[in-house]
Amino acid sequence: MRKKTKQIFIGNVPVGGGSPIAIQSMTNLSVTDEEGTIEQINACAQCGCDIMRVAVPNTEAAKAFANVRKRSILPLVADIHFDYRLAIAAMEYGADKIRINPGNMSLEQLDCVIDCAKQHNVPIRIGVNSGSINREAMQFCNGNRAQALCLSMERYLRYFEKRGFDNLVLSVKSTDVRETVETNRLIADFGYPIHIGVTEAGLREQGLVKNAIGIGALLLDGIGDTVRVSLTANPVEEVRAAKDILISLGLKRGVTFVSCPKCGRCSIDLETVAREIYSYIQNIDRNIKIAVMGCEVNGPGECSDADLGIAGANGKFVFFKKGVRYKVVASDVAVEEFKKEIDGLCK
Ligand code: SF4
Repeated sequence: MRKKTKQIFIGNVPVGGGSPIAIQSMTNLSVTDEEGTIEQINACAQCGCDIMRVAVPNTEAAKAFANVRKRSILPLVADIHFDYRLAIAAMEYGADKIRINPGNMSLEQLDCVIDCAKQHNVPIRIGVNSGSINREAMQFCNGNRAQALCLSMERYLRYFEKRGFDNLVLSVKSTDVRETVETNRLIADFGYPIHIGVTEAGLREQGLVKNAIGIGALLLDGIGDTVRVSLTANPVEEVRAAKDILISLGLKRGVTFVSCPKCGRCSIDLETVAREIYSYIQNIDRNIKIAVMGCEVNGPGECSDADLGIAGANGKFVFFKKGVRYKVVASDVAVEEFKKEIDGLCK
């Protein structure tokens, strides 16, 4: 059961209040490379990304942000550190949301940002990171980092509310998976939409594991309204991973892909076949299960709930539906034939 949160809109994308969990990513180029940035946004959109974030570190970047915003097919979030004037510029240039850490600004500067956000009806993500944990909050919480991060968030949140502003998304991220999970469980009680992710999770290999554990644990608790998988990789990889996490938990429509680990009974190049089918099903927006199994003896039975499956069979492939064999196809044409079967299923 998902926790109840307030609904806000990032551009035309609803976040919170029971809306579908939105997938986010962030461009990893300077926004002054406008063409490259647009290419990344388009590639992510094609993969299923709902919202894109862009770093705006200086005035030149803010001007480029304005151009990119006009051309972006996805709502665009401006990521601002330290300089409140850039937050204001980004909102005036059409940002669909801004992300700030209020701890990096004076209260007077924060007030200017809040006034501008009100005027332009722009949501703000309060982003608190474990790297900038407040020393006084740490002392107050007897060194409990999760509680200290939650306390910092609560103080910011109450300040925004006191200023009459509640168009907010909250995020508390840590490089530590446990800390991320513990802190988000605490801030979930505030009732605002939450952006979840494990920050600076590293390269694809370990990063995927950290993100899947952290994001997965929170989603299973019903926490999280928008997700960003953070990876040192192309943003498209982040979107694919986020999508896979959501599909695996039944929180997004899409194909559940199953392939066996293969064992000594397998007589085919299972990995090549599995990769080809897996890439084919990437953009299918249907709740179906597709299986690629190593042998005909156990494969169909081991995956008898698959809507459609293929299993290696001594130089041939057996096709099966819900565990029942219905066709045997020569290996040189099997993959193409199987793709047609998938198309038929998705008609
Ligand atoms: S489906 Fe066949 S090849 Fe794959 S793991 Fe099971 S027994 Fe081994």
